[in-house]
Amino acid sequence: MVLGLLAGVTYNGAVPGRETVSEKRKRALTVMDRLAADMPDARIELDYRTPLELLVAVMLSAQCTDKRVNIVTPALFQRFPSAQTYAEAEPSDVEPFIRTCGLYRAKAKNIVAAARALVAEHAGQVPLTRDTLEKLPGVGRKTAGVVCIHLGGDAAFPVDTHVKRLAYRLGFTTKEDPDKVEADMQAVLPPERWTLGHQLLVWHGRRTCFARSPDCARCVVADLCPKKGVKAPPVDAPTEKPARPARAKS
Ligand code: SF4
Repeated sequence: MVLGLLAGVTYNGAVPGRETVSEKRKRALTVMDRLAADMPDARIELDYRTPLELLVAVMLSAQCTDKRVNIVTPALFQRFPSAQTYAEAEPSDVEPFIRTCGLYRAKAKNIVAAARALVAEHAGQVPLTRDTLEKLPGVGRKTAGVVCIHLGGDAAFPVDTHVKRLAYRLGFTTKEDPDKVEADMQAVLPPERWTLGHQLLVWHGRRTCFARSPDCARCVVADLCPKKGVKAPPVDAPTEKPARPARAKS
């Protein structure tokens, strides 16, 4: 059994079923402190200079890597520097710039529609409230949350695929629904930890706690993690081939 660092909290690879709310909150803070120390550069990996560029980049990042988005956005942002320029365009004008991002027709349509709504209802500016952002075409709750936390708008703990997976493995949620996962993460961390907490889980998911094969042996929070749903190798499984016995000399 591996002892956790917090008094009264022990982990043995099973779900910490008897952990109190207070213990879970303390563990969550320790997990975040460790991740922050391990990844001091954790930040959003999409390139942007303005709120509009952030909104468009996050919309493009659905089903696409941040790296790919960053490849296409310099030319896109140069051609469309404002909500007005997108609003005056047709989706077919945007499509050639984002063709390699996947779902590019739907994304182009949504970006133009969202820009038209920004011009018509928000003087071309990106609103900073999550509810208002969510009303824009193509902007879901996660996208609205990501935009808000990086622009100093509404507090949020946006749940993407990494956050959802890690929140479960770390024993902070048992839920599948992203809204419920977000509520569980918000319950174990104070609001001032939500923005960085979101980013740290995303980074940890990309660098260590991989979807198919989490690298628990290298993980800085391994002793604080119940590893829920992670299939550990059998305890007695050999990690490497046994050495051949030396040949008896004849
Ligand atoms: S890598 Fe393993 S120990 Fe680390 S958070 Fe993921 S499941 Fe937990």
